[in-house]
Amino acid sequence: MTAQPIDGNALAAKLRAHMATEVAALAAQGHTPGLTVLLVGEDPASQVYVRNKVKACEAIGMASRLERHPADMSEAALLARIQELNADPSVHGILVQLPLPKHLNADLVIETIAPEKDVDGFHIASAGALMVGQPGFKPCTPYGCMKMLEDIGCNPRGKHAVVIGRSNIVGKPMALLLLQASATVTICHSATPNLAELARQADILVAAVGRPRFVTADMVKPGAVVLDVGINRLPDGKLCGDVDFDAVKDVAGWITPVPGGVGPMTITMLLQNTLEAAQRRAST
Ligand code: NDP
Repeated sequence: MTAQPIDGNALAAKLRAHMATEVAALAAQGHTPGLTVLLVGEDPASQVYVRNKVKACEAIGMASRLERHPADMSEAALLARIQELNADPSVHGILVQLPLPKHLNADLVIETIAPEKDVDGFHIASAGALMVGQPGFKPCTPYGCMKMLEDIGCNPRGKHAVVIGRSNIVGKPMALLLLQASATVTICHSATPNLAELARQADILVAAVGRPRFVTADMVKPGAVVLDVGINRLPDGKLCGDVDFDAVKDVAGWITPVPGGVGPMTITMLLQNTLEAAQRRAST
């Protein structure tokens, strides 16, 4: 079998075009959705990420602002700036780019963002809402994975989903979203024995490990949907996922490539969360 590719770029473009019309409708009522991105320091990868986020906002008509702060910004100053943004009605979403310089307590910084503006979905209130199935912001990468399943007509209900990875930003929320969608979910991590055997039972297999080509063809059930979250830089500079794409595509039913799979969906769902934040505010 040769798997069908799940084209993240195409789905992202479709969703963003739809969002642009909703943004225009909100703007016409005086509620242009606004995202403020805070970058502290000069981490080169972070600079690229924040630029892409701001550009993506602008492309669909959102108001976006990038604030650059020096690497030695004090924690008190950063928290005070976030409080100001919390109180600013033109700002619907606040994103603090991670990682932060070591002297800043990332947990405290994230908890200072008002939950109704936590468009990254990393605040404890967002995590709690996801845990108990209440409305809140879903972390963008797993939210994007769920959109991909929906787009290919894969309803997780009654399926066995195996998530490899248990981070707070990908693995755990991914597992919770799949559970919410009535999948039976297995979460694997570095202390899981028989990981390959568990992975082989998956109708939906999500790899969020951070190890190039970790998932090999013998770990995949024929016909499974394989979502590859991993983004790894190889010594030759090329990007590579956590799944051995060339071998797994002959076993899986559906598979996301890297690049061009889950990656473009992450920023798309950041836009979606910002739009939802503005819609909620407009309706209050
Ligand atoms: P983390 O490093 O926070 O988590 C990795 C997880 O993988 C951990 O739970 C770890 O287990 C598990 N793991 C590591 N090695 C093994 C192993 N040998 N066997 C089983 N489990 C293992 O990474 P993230 O969740 O933040 O990211 C995962 C990948 O996704 C990375 O490549 C990252 O770059 C990418 N990513 C991509 C995004 C996108 O937009 N496409 C967004 C975010 C991340 P344990 O907890 O036991 O240590």
